[in-house]
Amino acid sequence: MLGSSLRILVVGAGIAGLAAARALRLAGFRPEVVDKLPASTVAGAGIYLPGNATRALRELDLDAPVRPCGEVVTRQRFLDAEGRQLCEVDLAELWEGVGECRALPRADLHRVMLSGAGGAVRHETEVTCLEVVAGETAKVQFGDGSNAEYDLVVGADGRRSSVRTMAALGGAAVPVGQVMYRSVVTGGPKVGEWTAVLGKRAAFVVMPMGAGRLFCYADEAASAAPADPLDRVREVFGGLGGPVPAVLEAIEKVQVAVTDEVEIGSWSEGPVVLVGDAAHATAPTLAQGAAMALEDAVVLAESLRGAASVTDALDEYERRRRPRTRWVLERTRDRDRLRDEAPAIRDPLLRERGEAIFAEHYKGLVAPY
Ligand SMILES: Cc1cc2nc3c(=O)[nH]c(=O)nc-3n(C[C@H](O)[C@H](O)[C@H](O)COP(=O)(O)OP(=O)(O)OC[C@H]3O[C@@H](n4cnc5c(N)ncnc54)[C@H](O)[C@@H]3O)c2cc1C
Repeated sequence: MLGSSLRILVVGAGIAGLAAARALRLAGFRPEVVDKLPASTVAGAGIYLPGNATRALRELDLDAPVRPCGEVVTRQRFLDAEGRQLCEVDLAELWEGVGECRALPRADLHRVMLSGAGGAVRHETEVTCLEVVAGETAKVQFGDGSNAEYDLVVGADGRRSSVRTMAALGGAAVPVGQVMYRSVVTGGPKVGEWTAVLGKRAAFVVMPMGAGRLFCYADEAASAAPADPLDRVREVFGGLGGPVPAVLEAIEKVQVAVTDEVEIGSWSEGPVVLVGDAAHATAPTLAQGAAMALEDAVVLAESLRGAASVTDALDEYERRRRPRTRWVLERTRDRDRLRDEAPAIRDPLLRERGEAIFAEHYKGLVAPY
């Protein structure tokens, strides 16, 4: 059995890294955590967490402090470009017995995760070089020139992971031809439910996030970020109906990202393993990024606790996690294809079968992992 003396380094203090650190601590290990960014880099915008993310937070004993941070989301409404209802999904029913769906500020989630990880993150510490020695030990070099050896390195360094490259597990993330915009709006219209307005190869989603704030995210089929995201959002989504015109009136600032995917053959090399976006990033259409990262953390810690060796544990971790992350990738692609259908085909289909189609996208994630 692996003991608490195992030397573990977690690279990255995003949701995946902090969740991994938390899970490992709960399992009796003492991981070190580093992040190349300063501690003051507060994550902006909001985040939507489906029921399986809440279940994993519960497993990590972090659900109670996250709960008061945002708003519970019980229904999803899908509208056509003019704002007429296409279908509704009853989230309370879909995720019954699993967990609530929530919308909250990212910064609040990050604060809870950081304290859950023990707070001991070395910020402004970049991993610049990593070498696997004899398949068992990882030699790591940091940006300040110092070196250390570890029995396990957890690469939680995001979709553009350098651990992935340094461990020869895969190359660059692949753009999916989608640009995402995010914003938090105060003083906007009253929106009671998670609401998506579907345009032509574009969608605008808005949901209440507590304390009178709305979290909005919107995406369009495009390959490069525009020079002025706020202008672009008004141009692309300005013609949509429902709550969109009033939300656009109130929007002051927009974050923009070009979305990409990571799909690689193996998640580990010797004692180096990938978690979160570094292993399996997708477009955020299903909002499963945080949930998958949290579930990864729980399973990685469980696998290590029960294993005779690190490599056995990493094999077990990947065996358990692959089917779920594969499901998310495939359903994300399905959903994006559906969104990109001509409205004349898509909208009648959603009026007739929308609830069943959208509920189906999450079915494989309701079951325990
Ligand atoms: C536009 C957009 C909207 C999204 N919306 C949602 C949503 O509503 N719900 C949801 O669940 N998911 C959403 N996601 C996905 C979600 O944000 C991620 O899947 C999730 O945060 C997991 O990220 P991570 O921790 O794996 O990586 P990251 O958040 O990228 O964290 C990686 C960390 O590693 C650090 N790092 C990188 N390289 C090094 C190095 N060499 N040395 C040290 N540190 C390093 C970075 O500084 C960073 O802090 C969205 C994603 C995008 C792009």
